[in-house]
Amino acid sequence: MTTPVVLSTKLRDVVGGRTATALQKAFDLVTVHDLLMYLPRRYTRRGELTDFASLREGELVTVMARIKRVTTRPMRQRRGSITEVIVTDGQSDLSLTFFRKPWGTKLTPGLVGLFAGKTSRYNQKLQLTHPECNIFDGADTDASLDVDTVTAFADEILPVYPASASMASWKISQAVRMVLEQVDWASEPDPLPPQTAQRHHLVGLEQAYEGIHRPATDAQVVEGQRRIRWDEALALQTVLAVRRQRLTSQSAQARMKQNSGLLADFDEKLPFVLTAGQREIGDQIFEDLAQEHPMHRLLQGEVGSGKTLVALRAMLAVVDAGGQAALLAPTEVLAAQHARSIRTLLGALARGGQLDGAANGTQVALITGSMSAATKRKEMLAAASGEVGIVIGTHAILEDKVTFADLGLVVVDEQHRFGVEQRAALAQKSLDGKRPHVLVMTATPIPRTVAITVFGDLDVSVLRELPGGRAAITTHVVPAREKPGFLERTWERVREEVSQGHQAYVVCPRIVATDVEDDGLVVADDVLDEFGAEEAGDRGPEAALPMASVEDVAAELAAGPLRGVRLEVLHGRMPGDEKDAIMRRFSSETAVASGIDVLVSTTVIEVGVDVPNATVMVVMDADRFGVSQLHQLRGRIGRGGHPGLCLLVTSAEPGSPGRERLEVVSGTVDGFELARVDLSTRREGDVLGADQSGRKSSLRNLSLLRDEDIIVAARSEAEAIVESDPTLASHPALAALASTLAGDEAADWLDRS
Ligand code: ADP
Ligand code: MG
Repeated sequence: MTTPVVLSTKLRDVVGGRTATALQKAFDLVTVHDLLMYLPRRYTRRGELTDFASLREGELVTVMARIKRVTTRPMRQRRGSITEVIVTDGQSDLSLTFFRKPWGTKLTPGLVGLFAGKTSRYNQKLQLTHPECNIFDGADTDASLDVDTVTAFADEILPVYPASASMASWKISQAVRMVLEQVDWASEPDPLPPQTAQRHHLVGLEQAYEGIHRPATDAQVVEGQRRIRWDEALALQTVLAVRRQRLTSQSAQARMKQNSGLLADFDEKLPFVLTAGQREIGDQIFEDLAQEHPMHRLLQGEVGSGKTLVALRAMLAVVDAGGQAALLAPTEVLAAQHARSIRTLLGALARGGQLDGAANGTQVALITGSMSAATKRKEMLAAASGEVGIVIGTHAILEDKVTFADLGLVVVDEQHRFGVEQRAALAQKSLDGKRPHVLVMTATPIPRTVAITVFGDLDVSVLRELPGGRAAITTHVVPAREKPGFLERTWERVREEVSQGHQAYVVCPRIVATDVEDDGLVVADDVLDEFGAEEAGDRGPEAALPMASVEDVAAELAAGPLRGVRLEVLHGRMPGDEKDAIMRRFSSETAVASGIDVLVSTTVIEVGVDVPNATVMVVMDADRFGVSQLHQLRGRIGRGGHPGLCLLVTSAEPGSPGRERLEVVSGTVDGFELARVDLSTRREGDVLGADQSGRKSSLRNLSLLRDEDIIVAARSEAEAIVESDPTLASHPALAALASTLAGDEAADWLDRS
């Protein structure tokens, strides 16, 4: 009795040692499941010749072509002969060169076959040198084909696999067929519950793999792919559903909103009315805070939509209820700015215990890594004693030394800069097994599929409207190479704004010209990856040019176009107190008082910086930034009721991907629309960047753009499954699939209970 072949069976027991070794070496495929999940890149029909016009030099290709002519001639320099085979796609020819005549291959004019190899150029023409050949000669070697007629033969759909030099597509195909013949599907449990399959008209596993690897019709391919994507979506959503459920089983101290206290006083003195969104989300948060399990809410909203205010009201409610709140910012500049603006907003309420403070006031502490040891110790003591209600800081807060008397709420600003590890450390700061409530704020608009996938364990609130008084931002592309006059005009515009008492930002991708590394906060190349700019190789010829750097641009502007204008630089490599001093001077009420008209910086100023008097932003080499990031950047201007002008300087060619992105950014100010565009220019794996979720490798076949319907439906199926079977005891196959996904997330904070 042999054991049945199932998905977990090792390939070497099914396809033989040699093929198994080759498959492992070339593609790291070890099990039957690995091979069946190695999906064809595309499909072709025997009758359909490959269009040679689509071939590029230096690529590994598999082409279907008809043999036209075969000539053999002796080599000039050496012994032996060269065989040249001319094949055609019906339009043009391609030359195949063999230094040895391929053994056992019928190179007969008129026959059609598959040829695989690397394209190279010889005498201006593309050729394949010593390609692998698979000729269809009618008496097909593959007995399983069951070819009835010539038409059926020509019509057969052939999968084309991503091949390697040592493993041609049809060899993979042979191995897959061999595997499909042997799998005992009755012994393979299906991870998809039958009701789910029925409800969504999904084919079984066997049918899915057959459809993908040896389809009779196009429809079978589609059905097969849909089923595979469903598996992936369901497994992922199951992981998230289990986690959400675990969250609700954790305990937290309920923090009830009080009828009188800081919050009530604050609301009463507020110089403006809350937007409807701010009020509704505020109420939702108060409800969350009153629960005995921790809130985990994501607050999304465009820059300037008033998130900070929502967060502050939540913090005040917690302080009223006897707890403390921590606000974590991604950089020291932002932490300091949050501290300033929150102290301003609170006024006397932030000076509890002081002579000029409100009687029921609290205190706001700022703790950052670069402050003096003495100051830090003082602030930390205050946090530990409970004297301070609101603690603001960077990751430094998470150092073990900082303790809280009673931490009730943690607000995390700009979560995409904030690692899972830090969140975990913070959760450890809870008292007697009770965790703090968590509110995460982000200004990066997140499309729905990403929200329920990457942030699938958080409840999501969105602030859609901007508070009144915000003026429009106009964005223009400045093609510096084609129209040098536009660049001159750009600096004139900056001078004009400055002469009216306004301020300007000039943003560069690098600190110094020779730099490989940028900031330590945002590395330019990270930015490119994170925000979906093209791969280095795809950037086109302009990629070779050095990128604009803060130091060069500042020097050039000071010496020329902006001479006499008060100009300073800011970047992540400056000491914290220096950065802070510059930011403070730049953000004073008016330019006259601040002493800085133009700030030349890296993306340090990206997130949350609020200088209402700044009206122009010039982004140098703007094509080096991603769509969402440019949108974030321009959110820094037009905040003070003055219209904003954003100028995107670029040397990217018209029509190049970089240039197209800029046109998109200048064409709309809808952040959600831009987020969608951003998503479409990225590879899926990058969307779930490892630092965000550790889930980088898991989305193999699912597309967050294309498969929105599947993802949304899978989420509700997963929810129902986990609700009725929290430990997945009666769904072992689904549990197994889910745990392979969750496997690399051992470090995830939510799992550390
Ligand atoms: P975000 O954090 O979402 O970027 P902020 O909370 O910093 O936005 O708000 C941006 C500006 O708008 C701040 O100056 C803030 O005081 C102001 N603001 C917030 N809410 C309102 C409102 N309802 N009406 C008027 N101004 C508001
Ligand atoms: Mg803000």
